[in-house]
This record gives sequence, C-alpha cells and structure tokens, in this order.
Amino acid sequence: QLCVGVLALQGAFREHVAAVASLGATAREVRQLKDIEGIDALIIPGGESTTIGKLLNEWNMLEPLRQRILDGMPVYGSCAGLILLCRDIENSDQPRLGVLDATVRRNAFGRQVDSFETNLSIPEIGADPLPAVFIRAPVITGVGAGVKVLAEVNGQAVAVRQNNILATSFHPELTPDTRMHSYFLSFCGK
Ligand code: GLN
Repeated sequence: QLCVGVLALQGAFREHVAAVASLGATAREVRQLKDIEGIDALIIPGGESTTIGKLLNEWNMLEPLRQRILDGMPVYGSCAGLILLCRDIENSDQPRLGVLDATVRRNAFGRQVDSFETNLSIPEIGADPLPAVFIRAPVITGVGAGVKVLAEVNGQAVAVRQNNILATSFHPELTPDTRMHSYFLSFCGK
C-alpha cells in the first residue's frame, strides 16, 4: 500500500492525513528524519512557512528531503508548503527546499482579503470547478520552462506542477473535495 508522509512539524497537517486516508493510502506523520524512510510521497501542509523552514533546518531535514525530491519522490505543498518548495521567495532569505523553479510572493492577497473561498477551474483534475480556500495565501509570480500552470486567480498562478512536484496556494484539504489529493497520488504510479 502507498505510504504518504505528511510533514507534521507545524500547521494544518491533520486534514491532509485525513484526505490521504480517505483515498485508501497510508498516511504517516513526518516529524523527524527517520520518518521519511520508506515513504512513497510527501505532503507539506499550510501553516507558517518561516516556522516550518526553521524547524526543517534545525532537525537537519532540509538536505535529505531535497535529495529525495530531486531523486523523483512526489511532493505536494499547499500554501506554506508551496512557499517552502519554491526556489525564489520575494524579499525573504528564509530556509526552503527550493526545488520548484518558481518565484513566490507571500501573503499576496493583502490584509483586506486575509482569506476567501472561490471555485477554480482546473482542467487537469476534472471538468467540475474545485472549491479552493485561500488563507493569507501566496501567489506564484514567475515560473521556469518546466513548470506547468494548472490554475490562476486574477491572472496569477495558484496551482503549478513541475514533474513530481505539485504546489497550490490554496487548501484543498479544508474541503471535502479530494480530487487534488487523488491527482497527486496518481504521480506515484501505484
Ligand atoms: N502566510 C503563510 C506563510 O507565508 C502561509 C499561510 C498558509 O499556509 N495558510 O507561510
């Protein structure tokens, strides 16, 4: 059975665990380096990207995780998880995995729109629009040639894929719609 690690250092990891389990895969909370042994894929949840990055750094998990991803392990980051995957973070030198060839702007929707929900058209995951919850969400302001934009809001990328790497600005785990997680599990080819 597919074993999906969910990084559980900080943030909204429980909802990802539940989404993975509802799809019939095993979800394993990843809190330290030894927890990544034997996982087939990894989800990095929303939360506070500076905190998660700092903890990854302190626990010496950044480099081994980066290597696993470069070796092809599927990884999905939502919100703070997306930020941690990006190579460039505007106006920040915070610790990151940096494996996604993209530039991200944190808290891009401003204070007035702290959070909002909208329906997104994402042809890649199906014809029906996906309910998407944005919470102090980032947007992707630039992507390299190998990055496919899956969805946009106001002309800015909010869901992207680069081979084994999936990232969304929003939180599909906070809705009952599991299509984004199914799509991600399909990367595992099992
Ligand atoms: N604003 C947060 C950050 O920059 C992300 C918010 C979230 O994950 N919901 O890390």
